[in-house]
Formats: sequence, C-alpha cells, structure tokens
Amino acid sequence: MDNLNSGQITALAADLEKLSSDLREQIELAKPAASTVVLDQSKVGRISRMDAMQQQHMADSTLQHTKKRLKLVSKALNKMSEDEYGFCELCDETIAFARLQVNPEAQLCLKCQSQQEQQ
Ligand SMILES: [Zn+2]
Repeated sequence: MDNLNSGQITALAADLEKLSSDLREQIELAKPAASTVVLDQSKVGRISRMDAMQQQHMADSTLQHTKKRLKLVSKALNKMSEDEYGFCELCDETIAFARLQVNPEAQLCLKCQSQQEQQ
C-alpha cells in the first residue's frame, strides 16, 4: 500500500489537533461528575443514592475511555512529528487513509486491529 502523501498527513494532523482539544474539553467537563457522588440535598428523594452512584460510575468509565483516546491521539501526534505516523505498530504496513480519516489516532492497520479484537 502507498504511503500517505503530504496533503493527507496535513489533513490528518488537523483532525488530530482538533480531536485532542475536543477530548481535553470533554475530560474537563466529565471530571466533576466522575469524581464525586452528587450529594445535593435538593435532589434527595428524586434521585436515590444508588442512582447517583450508578451515574458516577458511568461518568467515570466515559472519562477513562476519553483519557485513553486522548493518549492515543497524543501518541499519534508524536509519531507525526517524527515522521513515523500512519504505520501499523505490529506489521509496519501503511494504515489506509480511509481508516485514518475515521480514526486518526489508529495505531494498527485494520487487519491487525481485528485480529487483536478477536483475542
Ligand atoms: Zn498491521
């Protein structure tokens, strides 16, 4: 498969930068909900403590997921600055541009990714 051309890299760099700032924003917004069980007295009766804990748990797992994705985005940006972006970490093949457009932080080609998911 052909390597990415510079126009494609530029487009993906912009995607990654945007993704990075979007994810940071999401993390900031999710932090309060994820770190504390809401003990707002005005809500007692309408929302049980159990519900509050469940909501906190959900917010926390969303937060962890977002943090993980941000890590991959940062990693991809690092690779980009070292001209190593767009190659599969396992087989060294070029990752398809169409795949990177959907998932610019992808570290694996489609083949390796689906193999990993089967394990
Ligand atoms: Zn691969």
